[in-house]
Amino acid sequence: MDTIFGEIELLRDDMVASLGRICAIPAISPHNGGDGEEAKAKEIEKLISELGLGAVEWQRVSDAKSPTGNRPSLFLEVKGTLPRRLCILSHMDIVPEGDRSFWSLDPYKPVTRGSRLYGRGVSDNGMAIISSLYALYALKKLNITPTYTVCLVFLSDEELGSSFGVKPLLERGLFREDDLVIAPDSGNDRGYFIEIAEKSMLRMEFTVTGKQAHAAHPNTGLNACRAANLFSVELDEALHMAFQEKDTLFDPPVSTFEPTRRFANVPNMNTIPGKERFGFDCRVLPSVPLKDVLAVVERVKDEVSRRSGAVIEMEVKGDNAAPPTSEDSDVSRLLLSSIKKVLNVKPVFGGIGGGTFAAFFRRKGIPAVVWQQEPEGTAHQPDEYTEIEYIVNNAKVFAAMMSEN
Ligand SMILES: [Zn+2]
Repeated sequence: MDTIFGEIELLRDDMVASLGRICAIPAISPHNGGDGEEAKAKEIEKLISELGLGAVEWQRVSDAKSPTGNRPSLFLEVKGTLPRRLCILSHMDIVPEGDRSFWSLDPYKPVTRGSRLYGRGVSDNGMAIISSLYALYALKKLNITPTYTVCLVFLSDEELGSSFGVKPLLERGLFREDDLVIAPDSGNDRGYFIEIAEKSMLRMEFTVTGKQAHAAHPNTGLNACRAANLFSVELDEALHMAFQEKDTLFDPPVSTFEPTRRFANVPNMNTIPGKERFGFDCRVLPSVPLKDVLAVVERVKDEVSRRSGAVIEMEVKGDNAAPPTSEDSDVSRLLLSSIKKVLNVKPVFGGIGGGTFAAFFRRKGIPAVVWQQEPEGTAHQPDEYTEIEYIVNNAKVFAAMMSEN
């Protein structure tokens, strides 16, 4: 194993250069104002061919909003001693850069500063693409056949829910029940956290309708802003009151109910808004059925509607939590022993707020783990960065998983 780790050390600068190269191509969903993943996928295919790792298979999912009419995902499979596959899944898409004035650099011109590489998507999730590719490349350079058949998958559309990514690809039967699945898309700085469970997700968008009026004559209208404020506060309190269960597998160990988005209403101060839209993002412990949460929402909605006279409509997107992956599953154990070979940590299994694609596999009965060593709190933020050391360490862990004996 030391030979492999030594080889990966030598590839440090190449990995940083390649990560910068692919992150220079934004891959924002066409549903979020971008051009999609096509250009980035082509660049990754080019890199794979330069590294001599073999031919990739393109899987495309139709998407009328995409300039190409579809969203691509790439599969690279390299035969191992065993037919059983180790699948490492990363996503190519990124979230938009947001307000540029918060960035101290160009999000799409990745640069190194000290021990870090900065740029949109370097941590979420470009690092995983590069670390998994170079783990395979190191084995190839050393003429080592991996123990497991290695399947690297580079996916589209993770950030907006995977409807054009792993979800339909799972339906195409491209994964098997005995696949060892790891999604390196969440973790912490010391690299000890292995995610095996996720909370249920619930996103609710509310439209509160009153009657627009001149601010000098509020009595002639019905202030939707006031009704929305009232509803938001009451709903927040009611949900926190109703669901106080704890589960220490998760951090935080409780269900969370957060008012998040507010949509713009009127562009001027002296108009009473007739319509107000806002949203709640909820991460609910698996022990709490989402229908119980929705029952509370309905009750508060009706109460506030009656008191304020405003009409409240809601749109709900929810996913009940997938069954957790066992700590004793093959992939959990393989990852745990591989981490110990690289990092001086005691790995811990736990749950998170949800939203990785491991859940889709778990629902299909395929155990999946989520892990990588990653800087905490940088994903989706301005000046996103990763520690170069983590790229190297993650590659070592993947190589250890690939060549376990
Ligand atoms: Zn991600």
